[in-house]
Amino acid sequence: MVTPSKSIFSLFLFLIISVGFAQSIDEKKLLSDLKLLSADDLKGRKTLSEGNIKARKHIQSEFQRIGLKTHYSEYLQSFSFENRRENKKYEDAVNVIGFLPGLDSRNIIVITAHYDHVGVGKKNSKGDSIYNGADDNASGTAALLALAEYFSKNQPQHPIMFAALDGEEMGLQGAKALLKDFPFPLDNILMNINMDMISRNENNELYASGTNYYPELKPILEQASVGLLPSLKFGHDQPNTGRENWTQSSDQGPFFDEKIMHIYFGVEDHVDYHQPSDEFENIEPSFYTNAMKLILKCIIDLDQKLPKE
Ligand SMILES: [Zn+2]
Repeated sequence: MVTPSKSIFSLFLFLIISVGFAQSIDEKKLLSDLKLLSADDLKGRKTLSEGNIKARKHIQSEFQRIGLKTHYSEYLQSFSFENRRENKKYEDAVNVIGFLPGLDSRNIIVITAHYDHVGVGKKNSKGDSIYNGADDNASGTAALLALAEYFSKNQPQHPIMFAALDGEEMGLQGAKALLKDFPFPLDNILMNINMDMISRNENNELYASGTNYYPELKPILEQASVGLLPSLKFGHDQPNTGRENWTQSSDQGPFFDEKIMHIYFGVEDHVDYHQPSDEFENIEPSFYTNAMKLILKCIIDLDQKLPKE
């Protein structure tokens, strides 16, 4: 038998839990961030371009609004690198980096997504020359903001660093710079979770790549994804398989080189990959919001199940 006071209490608890869950990811905000970051006026966000700086300022003001801490001045980590293809030195490329302390561990989860893309280039048959990079990688960047917002209200066990990286399209430069100028010993990094292209797939599949190297992560991810769509696939992480191995194809590469565990969330290439048609109109909103919730669930479980020391 349930006494009236108890049932009122349970009702309150139910309301608190359901309201809390509903607020976990703001889907409208997620989509509007993706739209903003891939709009024509950002002109493809090429490193050091005006559009790239607009994207950077949006991320920076969001980190500020959310109330993230940081180890860099105003969240910005500047770095320089040589672009061999263009034979040009890039000064003052900028990563945007926020931080949330953990409840009971010093081992950091570093979540990354690159916000740069390839800019303006060759026109396609429709006369479009802006390479918007909606899927690549406004999708991962907007997801990074949503995760920062979520974990700022639900404190994780492990500290989380949120890194919006620059210069990925010029050779994973932002990730290399982050690890070169990291505010803690690299031994304190528990793992890297990278997101790059997560907003569309014809087969309703999202990859979590890297478990071939780190098999201990696989059961956690398998369990986290039970009953959820898109279906979580493993693979693209076998050595000696050329471009089929994605380990060095995005910002998880430099972490791998430092022997730091990673999981890379991404989809297989599509017709609009690195084309002017990779724009907001061609992403799949329901795939994207579901992928976001799946990734969130995976990160919550990794945070709870991975060792604290
Ligand atoms: Zn990318």
